[in-house]
Amino acid sequence: MEKTYKKGDILEIRIEDMSDEGLGIGKAEGYTLFVKDAVIGDTCLVKIMKAKKNYAFAHLEEVKEPSSFRITPLCAKAKACGGCQLQAMSYEAELKFKENKVKNNLIRIGGFAEDFVELIKEPIVGMDNPYRYRNKAQYPVGYDKSGKLVTGFYAGRTHDIISNTDCILGKEKNKDILEAILSFMEKNGISAYSEESGKGIIRHILIREGFKTGEVMVCIVANADKLPHEEELGEMLFAMPGIKSVVLNINKENTNVILGKTTRVIKGSETIMDYLGDLSFKISAPSFYQVNPVQTEKLYTKALEYADLHGEEAVWDLYCGIGTISLFMAKKAKKVYGVEIVHEAIEDAKENAKRNGITNAEFFVGKAEEVLPEFYENENSDMRTPDVIVVDPPRKGCDEKCLETMLKMNPKRIVYVSCDSATLARDLKILCEEKYELKAWQCYDQFSRTVHVETVVRIQRKDT
Ligand code: SAH
Repeated sequence: MEKTYKKGDILEIRIEDMSDEGLGIGKAEGYTLFVKDAVIGDTCLVKIMKAKKNYAFAHLEEVKEPSSFRITPLCAKAKACGGCQLQAMSYEAELKFKENKVKNNLIRIGGFAEDFVELIKEPIVGMDNPYRYRNKAQYPVGYDKSGKLVTGFYAGRTHDIISNTDCILGKEKNKDILEAILSFMEKNGISAYSEESGKGIIRHILIREGFKTGEVMVCIVANADKLPHEEELGEMLFAMPGIKSVVLNINKENTNVILGKTTRVIKGSETIMDYLGDLSFKISAPSFYQVNPVQTEKLYTKALEYADLHGEEAVWDLYCGIGTISLFMAKKAKKVYGVEIVHEAIEDAKENAKRNGITNAEFFVGKAEEVLPEFYENENSDMRTPDVIVVDPPRKGCDEKCLETMLKMNPKRIVYVSCDSATLARDLKILCEEKYELKAWQCYDQFSRTVHVETVVRIQRKDT
């Protein structure tokens, strides 16, 4: 009879693998255990917390023999915080883990052969320094168990706030900004919002910096139309180094979506500026902007290489955000069309084109899966028959209707930029079913010390 395990059992296991979420995976007589904070190669004692028929989640009780990949996390809060899942693992091992994760998804979900996937792979591009790379952070504001006002990050899988004003993925100066806001709240009796009661005022603090310009935006997300003493808060923050924009985002909904629909200026500009390559970009609070600008430049250069433009091509850039990829492509293409769901981002994209003297890019607001079919049905221009389509969707990947239209448009090449390799592999299976072939893929480590990884893929029509 097979051995069964139950809650509370303590076992000694060796961690052989890691899940996509960064949990260590070990086996006891064929029974699989998922262990948070365990690193591949660790031999450890674990305690079963939640037992299912074939697997269990277990707590790491003691590392008996540490893995050769195990390191001491730089951040004291790493274990409690849900942000970095891989801080106890060497960076070299992290890069290998990420590349393997994408490779396995391409094989398992995409249905590609292992030899082939290995053959067309280009090696993962890591960071020189995998810390302090983020240009944006969103800090929830709340109270700790003793009722003290805190800000930091949510603990994994919960909405308990782990107090931390110096996240080592972000810049050191964020600490001064956060602490200034907390003391201002305390001094003026401004409350933090509570998700349970729906009461209280300040929900989140969002800080974003243009690394090339040094311009900083502070966006306070509030459950109110106006903050008490907001002019004073604006003045105080505006006087701090680099801060060019202090804005209020109003979110009165009972939701875990961070930003509400309305944003207005408290002090300074509505936007900040940054450069990617030699292009300048204006960024407003609700717009998506890549969080790791150092790696983004490398990634876009690769996307441009995969697009293989010679000046005569029509290009669609789907999920274009503020037009960053579009403008990179426009310099090498005849015409670029961008589509994006957030209207503020499209406003930014239009202005970004103008500011950079780019006249061959046009932008449209809407869902890619609605806008693209509409142009396909009703247009007779090169919008209907682009040479290249670039897609950079959010984690959930492309809508089927979007993929279907892309195939109908019959471009020579498709460049797929993805932040979720499972949905990437799912979509590639559809795209490469008949006329198209996967030609190359490469990972870019945009989210060091976390389990997330960016991938760029080149797909080509077989008859070209
Ligand atoms: N290419 C941009 C943005 C990529 S992030 C860059 O590199 O900066 C994905 C973008 O897709 C976000 O800006 C998001 O607002 C947008 N988006 C999400 N769902 C969408 C949809 N259904 N149609 C079009 N855009 C969408």
